[in-house]
Amino acid sequence: MTTNLRVLYLASEAAPFVKIGGLGDVAGSLPLALHNLTAHSQNLNCIDIRLALPLHHVIDRQAFGLSLTASFRLPYRDGSIPTQVYSTRINGMTVYLIDGDVLPKEGAVYHDDAQLDAPKFTFFSLAALELTRQLNWQPHVLHANDWHTAPAVYALSLFRNHEPFFKRTGSLLTVHNLPYLGTGAGSALKLFGLPPSQDPALPHWSRDLPLPLGLATADHINTVSHGYAQEIMTPEFGSGLHDFLRSRQDSTSGILNGIDVDHWDPGTDPFLTSNFTHRNLSDRKKNKRQLLRELKLEPKSRTPLIAMINRMDYQKGVDLVPDALDKIADQTWQAIILGTGDPGIEAAARAFEEKYPQRVRVMITFDAPLARRIYAGADALLIPSRYEPCGLTQMIAMRYGNVPIARATGGLRDTITDYREAVEDNTSGQRLERRQSTGFLYHDSSSGALAEAIQRALGIYADQRRWRGLQIRGMKQDFSWEKSAQQYLALYKSILKNSASEQ
Ligand code: ADP
Repeated sequence: MTTNLRVLYLASEAAPFVKIGGLGDVAGSLPLALHNLTAHSQNLNCIDIRLALPLHHVIDRQAFGLSLTASFRLPYRDGSIPTQVYSTRINGMTVYLIDGDVLPKEGAVYHDDAQLDAPKFTFFSLAALELTRQLNWQPHVLHANDWHTAPAVYALSLFRNHEPFFKRTGSLLTVHNLPYLGTGAGSALKLFGLPPSQDPALPHWSRDLPLPLGLATADHINTVSHGYAQEIMTPEFGSGLHDFLRSRQDSTSGILNGIDVDHWDPGTDPFLTSNFTHRNLSDRKKNKRQLLRELKLEPKSRTPLIAMINRMDYQKGVDLVPDALDKIADQTWQAIILGTGDPGIEAAARAFEEKYPQRVRVMITFDAPLARRIYAGADALLIPSRYEPCGLTQMIAMRYGNVPIARATGGLRDTITDYREAVEDNTSGQRLERRQSTGFLYHDSSSGALAEAIQRALGIYADQRRWRGLQIRGMKQDFSWEKSAQQYLALYKSILKNSASEQ
């Protein structure tokens, strides 16, 4: 007998409906990639994955042809909240958009204070579960993402104790950014009928926070890279939960995010001066020339052009860059920094440009077309992140023949093979190892270590034959979503098996 694998995928945002950050990219791509896979196994023939999102006021209701699919009341305090669920299809995949009075009619999707966002996301999480019951569509797997939808995982664990409808539903919680625990959400959880946890394994302070509650009750936890899955079990990266997370080690794994390889394709990107592939890499040079001209930097094709494209946030280590480049000011380089965010970091970047007006350009803005021209025109991309659950910029950079210089952390370590390590690691066949390298990695989160890594890169850049090798190997990497989707499918199947064997 064949049956569909039913997966309910919950996210606070997903492109093209609403995209604020990296999660929007993932939730906009992964469910579709899974929808497009066909599972060949004895009992499964296809994946019926459905995406659910809050109907945020910023979503253009007209643009997506929404139709009302369900209305019900969700228990809240002593009463209930009228809930409407609209649906549409994207490339054949069903998407539910859930609305109710708890969703604000104005303002940002996310606030710095999670307490402000907790009612709407808790409402959404519980309404999505209730929807499956209303539709009599029993998911095999509930797949939630980050703190916003972790309440659904916790609620499921409570419902499974007494509600036959949910008995066969397993759960997966993906952590995209651990430090966002949902601090302050406790009272909202309570108002929606979710009590604090009694689990003694959870630190006391975390027992009414959405993400820890989800982490404690999910059948499986995953992060967006193998490296980050290991790092969150250490005091440095564990946000106070490292001991608890270590106790869940056997149920925790990592799957790298992908990138949309059609969207990020230097061979067809309409924003580039000159399209190119790894077969005609010399055409790439025109992009560098034009970029330097555009930014009013002297067009020196042989001078290494180092770039940075990032949110200006402490996590990203942008603050280390001026000091690092200062340390190697006696060398030849030009630099471009594109980003926006923390006012202090922005001011430091501007001061850096004022110090080196001939060789540094700083653009304090979010400019997607310019970012593409920088990926295609600069020689190297700096990614000095203090932590990086997965990271997209290094994958985009490699695809565009731009060589990453990055801190060896999380997804950066998992996706970049270091030039020096590649050579040194191998005693028997140095050349073979070197042929696998795609960039430069360094370990300490300091401007000195970053400067040293840039210096190593400049040394290789001087030998253009070697540099081209790095570029071409990077361009040939497979960062497609399909690869990740296959791994998620395998994970869903294992969760299904485990939850079935517990019946
Ligand atoms: P995060 O999601 O933590 O911000 P990622 O590396 O996962 O970091 O994704 C960042 C994405 O945002 C990339 O696609 C990058 O090109 C883009 N980006 C970041 N800053 C800017 C900017 N100032 N202008 C244009 N694109 C940007």
